[in-house]
Amino acid sequence: MIYDYIIVGQGVAGSVLGYTLIKKGLKILIVDGGGNNSSKVAAGIFNPVTGKRMVKTWKAEQLFSFLNEFYPEMEKDLDAKFFYPVPIFRPFGSIEEQNHWVSNSDEAYNKFLRVVTSSDDFPINKNKHFGGLRLF
Ligand SMILES: Cc1cc2nc3c(=O)[nH]c(=O)nc-3n(C[C@H](O)[C@H](O)[C@H](O)COP(=O)(O)OP(=O)(O)OC[C@H]3O[C@@H](n4cnc5c(N)ncnc54)[C@H](O)[C@@H]3O)c2cc1C
Repeated sequence: MIYDYIIVGQGVAGSVLGYTLIKKGLKILIVDGGGNNSSKVAAGIFNPVTGKRMVKTWKAEQLFSFLNEFYPEMEKDLDAKFFYPVPIFRPFGSIEEQNHWVSNSDEAYNKFLRVVTSSDDFPINKNKHFGGLRLF
């Protein structure tokens, strides 16, 4: 058999590349040494706004709109279930932080963030009443 590509390593990167090449009609062979594999132990969490200062990750718009189409399509093709989008709640630590986010109208964040100023929906935050940010 003649292959168009040989991919070395079948973590998430090798798997996604292999799947993408197969969809393009190319013949591939994936080899894996069977050693350590981060993809098997990873939590698999994806979050477009991160860090202490809550900033948008690199190419967030492009990457997150891509993955929201790519993984469901892959699930269909493979008849498998592995994509579980869930909202993320990030509690505010203080009234200052709440004020900052309530008054921050940066449209660049609108796609990903909703400011929640009541903690009622989120029992995890019930002892503090600063609310928080909801992602997605
Ligand atoms: C504990 C933990 C939690 C994480 N949680 C998250 C998370 O929540 N969200 C997130 O986005 N990321 C997370 N990450 C990071 C994420 O897991 C990695 O960025 C991602 O899995 C890397 O994928 P990969 O395909 O590049 O590498 P890997 O998954 O490591 O795959 C590489 C593969 O290549 C094979 N290989 C290497 N060299 C050779 C060789 N010479 N010949 C043959 N085969 C070879 C290895 O056996 C392996 O199977 C986490 C990582 C860890 C360790």
